[in-house]
Amino acid sequence: MSGECVKVIVRCRPVNERETNLKSAVVIDIAPDGGQVQIMKPAKIRSPGNSGEPKSFKFDAAYAMDSQTELIYEEMGLPLVASILEGYNGTVFAYGQTGCGKSYTMSGPSEPETQKGIIPRAFQHIFDEISVSEGSHYLIQATYLEIYNEEVRDLLGIDVKAKLDLKEHTNRGVYVHGLSAHRVASIQDLERLMDQGGKNRSVGATLMNPDSSRSHSIFAVVVEIADDTGVRSGKLNLVDLAGSERQSKTGSTGERFREATRINLSLSALGNVISALVDGKSKHIPYRDSKLTRLLQSSLGGNTKTLMVACISPADNNYEETLSTLRYANRAK
Ligand code: ADP
Repeated sequence: MSGECVKVIVRCRPVNERETNLKSAVVIDIAPDGGQVQIMKPAKIRSPGNSGEPKSFKFDAAYAMDSQTELIYEEMGLPLVASILEGYNGTVFAYGQTGCGKSYTMSGPSEPETQKGIIPRAFQHIFDEISVSEGSHYLIQATYLEIYNEEVRDLLGIDVKAKLDLKEHTNRGVYVHGLSAHRVASIQDLERLMDQGGKNRSVGATLMNPDSSRSHSIFAVVVEIADDTGVRSGKLNLVDLAGSERQSKTGSTGERFREATRINLSLSALGNVISALVDGKSKHIPYRDSKLTRLLQSSLGGNTKTLMVACISPADNNYEETLSTLRYANRAK
């Protein structure tokens, strides 16, 4: 496994209205090209004698406030989705504090076109490729699941509340027992399934936890390709991770605290796996430490491609969270 197959990038969203009203200072500096991100500790929380030397991090790429998802997709998404169509697995993660642009980057607004999300672009890419290919037959299926509190649910299942078990098969590897797979023939089919699952996600959220940003979800598109060389299949995992914010800020106790610990467990297990993969020297990749990493085992490492998009806010009031996102992403790198 070479580190080449894991890309970690940072995207900084623009200052929002709340931050403008708060007269927040911008503490993030991203130089054009080079993947360098600098963060400056706000003067008001600096200890005496700290002159405010910025901390610097380097990633595969870093996208500033005015960046367009179109470019991010061209540079980072395209090679990954192309490899799915050659029969490899690949995974895109969005990581970061709630409100920093994970959904914006993954799903995106429909306007302007340049900000359309990575997910609709990937769907388009898959179907464009299929429409021009000759002599190959494709079968496309989608699954959509949620991991909340280390419990797995089928967002497209008949019973959304049923807890599903992970099983291990000698050839198939780790899979979710009873997860429904849905055949798709068009982009609209995929969008409909995402929509339907997304609605179920918020239904689950109101039933079990008041906020869907506390669950992880995996929308997977399996592309089976049959041609005269044989049959192969590639899987694209689109992973919407729970918000990475630490709990001190939300002051959770009791059940909420235990829940938060389990959410962070999946996030830290993921960080450990990616870090071990990038490092390339580790013999042991700790996939078994969480449901998320067990499920993604066949799509992380080996000849698969991984893209981690760490989303951050530019504002001084989010300094601590942003620094922890950068540290997480940097360790993953
Ligand atoms: P998250 O999914 O991380 O909780 P969102 O994607 O919902 O965060 O983003 C929070 C808000 O910031 C949304 O209103 C979104 O439109 C806006 N936003 C996020 N990233 C950008 C961006 N790169 N450019 C413009 N607006 C953005």
